[in-house]
Amino acid sequence: MDAPRFPDWIDDAPEAVDSDLCQSCGACCSTSAEWPRFTLEDDADLDSIPAEYVAADQSGMRCEGERCSALTGEIGKGTACGVYAVRPLVCRACLPGDPECLMARERHGLPWPPEPAELR
Ligand code: SF4
Ligand code: SF4
Repeated sequence: MDAPRFPDWIDDAPEAVDSDLCQSCGACCSTSAEWPRFTLEDDADLDSIPAEYVAADQSGMRCEGERCSALTGEIGKGTACGVYAVRPLVCRACLPGDPECLMARERHGLPWPPEPAELR
């Protein structure tokens, strides 16, 4: 999908955009139980994730339906990752404007570019 990495009305501080937008969004954390899977994490990385959030087969994050069990809050309003500092690599790699992001946001009826209100 050929979409801009960031909306036109944002011309600086992409890190802040990532952080602020994702805190209001959370769509990619609640789109597929297949998504928050472990990939190249080492044993120390995996041990740092609280067991209550890990799938029984150890393949990735435990999900409730399509929603990661570590996600709190309401999609598109205000969300947080309960294991942010130790979240899987796939979660770190997904950034606003990425194809996975756009797919997840569309699934939840969230527009791209995002509304300015999502960054407040
Ligand atoms: S879907 Fe995009 S904007 Fe929303 S939390 Fe994921 S990366 Fe951030
Ligand atoms: S571990 Fe955190 S960032 Fe990754 S899917 Fe779950 S709630 Fe989202």
